Amino acid sequence: MERDCIFCRIIAGEIPSKKIFEDQTTLAILDINPISEGHSLVIPKKHIAYLEEADETTLGHMTGIAGKIARNMIRNRFADGTNLFLASHESADQTVFHIHLHVIPRRKGDNMGIGDWWREKSGGLEEVKIPEILKMLS
Ligand code: 5GP
Ligand code: ZN
Repeated sequence: MERDCIFCRIIAGEIPSKKIFEDQTTLAILDINPISEGHSLVIPKKHIAYLEEADETTLGHMTGIAGKIARNMIRNRFADGTNLFLASHESADQTVFHIHLHVIPRRKGDNMGIGDWWREKSGGLEEVKIPEILKMLS
């Protein structure tokens, strides 16, 4: 528990939240400032600041719970689809430094612009750089 971490304080019950799901290791709540209705956060109870500090069990469980929330969204016709998002480090737009997986409900025609943004940004793979990239990532 980090005293100055907002998610640690939510987990400790010091700050109220709208709870979707909770088990021994993980909490899922509604985001306070949703980008679409039902925008949810899956948060490990242990304070882990960045993605690379989380072990496979933690990440696997977070993803499993995100899948459960997505399944409920689809089953209940609350959403037509979902995006998952995780920001790790300031450079990646992380603002709360206790990892969390965003589950973002998507609806047909919601015009979130993610597809457009993706198409605009994508491309430009330089063949000569591929061996170096593979070396760095594996
Ligand atoms: P990040 O930018 O780190 O990926 O996401 C942080 C998220 O946490 C934001 O979507 C923000 O709205 C949400 N958030 C920040 N403070 C609180 C809070 O006190 N309660 C809840 N439920 N969400 C919060
Ligand atoms: Zn924390």
